Amino acid sequence: MSGKSRRDFLKSTALIGAGVTGLTTTAKAGPQNILSEDRMGVLVDTTVCVGCRNCEWACKDAHNLPAGNLEDYEDRKVLDTKRRPGTDALTVVNEYSHGKNSSLPIDVKVQCMHCDHPACVSACIVGAFTKHENGTVTWDTDMCIGCRYCMAACPFQVPAFEYDKALNPMIMKCDFCFDRTKEGKLPACVEICPVEALTYGKRSDLIKIARDRIKRNPDKYVDHILGETEVGGTSWMYLASKDFAELEFPKLGKNPAPGVSESIQHGIFAYFVPPISLYALLGGIMWITKRRKELDEEVK
Ligand code: SF4
Ligand code: SF4
Ligand code: SF4
Repeated sequence: MSGKSRRDFLKSTALIGAGVTGLTTTAKAGPQNILSEDRMGVLVDTTVCVGCRNCEWACKDAHNLPAGNLEDYEDRKVLDTKRRPGTDALTVVNEYSHGKNSSLPIDVKVQCMHCDHPACVSACIVGAFTKHENGTVTWDTDMCIGCRYCMAACPFQVPAFEYDKALNPMIMKCDFCFDRTKEGKLPACVEICPVEALTYGKRSDLIKIARDRIKRNPDKYVDHILGETEVGGTSWMYLASKDFAELEFPKLGKNPAPGVSESIQHGIFAYFVPPISLYALLGGIMWITKRRKELDEEVK
């Protein structure tokens, strides 16, 4: 655990110890709304995407995951199987049969949606997930205790768990290239996309661009910007020539999903273990997790 993480954790434990009655309220409250009007997003236009999978390669390359050669991604056989983002690929591209007025297949890049009201943030009982003002949802590997509540809570089934790692298994997901965008760079996938199927910009501007495209090309697009309102809005949004349910997006309402995760947390506090015992337990698990990581580093 970093010094700051440890301090924050101890601070929150102390506060909890001082006021047990306030804990259930805090646990049910969900993340603080820190969303900026200027928060960023990406508009994915699936009618433009050609399924080259360069974005998959660039994402791995930017995150120190085994990426192989870019030329190998020209093999389209991979697209015969539907895939989900995982620990070896934070984004994947899937292919579906043609849509409105086109005989071309539809290619859909999938990754974390960076929800405006992220269920993963609400679900995480040690605060390892953070929603940032610029729209990004990140997580802190040092704080993660591997409980996998975030996986259960995510309405898009995004967080992946390193089941194959005996030591220090981690949750993995797209971090919206937080380190790159902080330096003013584009997300790696956006930068490499050869046909500008991905547009990075202010979320509010992206919605205007998307609406304009639909208005100008009613025969090309279904009249729906996926992510504009789903689960309270997401930073990543999609345009398509086919109903999104046929592209394997879950059908979700406008209400933020954290209600689901709040019940997970509430269930723990109401029926499982008393809060102080729980936090003492979590403190122990976090210490063990940290110690394992240190031992792992020493072995390397
Ligand atoms: S898509 Fe899932 S993992 Fe990503 S921010 Fe939303 S709830 Fe969290
Ligand atoms: S934004 Fe970054 S982390 Fe997310 S899919 Fe694109 S390259 Fe990967
Ligand atoms: S790089 Fe662009 S065109 Fe190629 S698969 Fe990714 S989003 Fe589609």
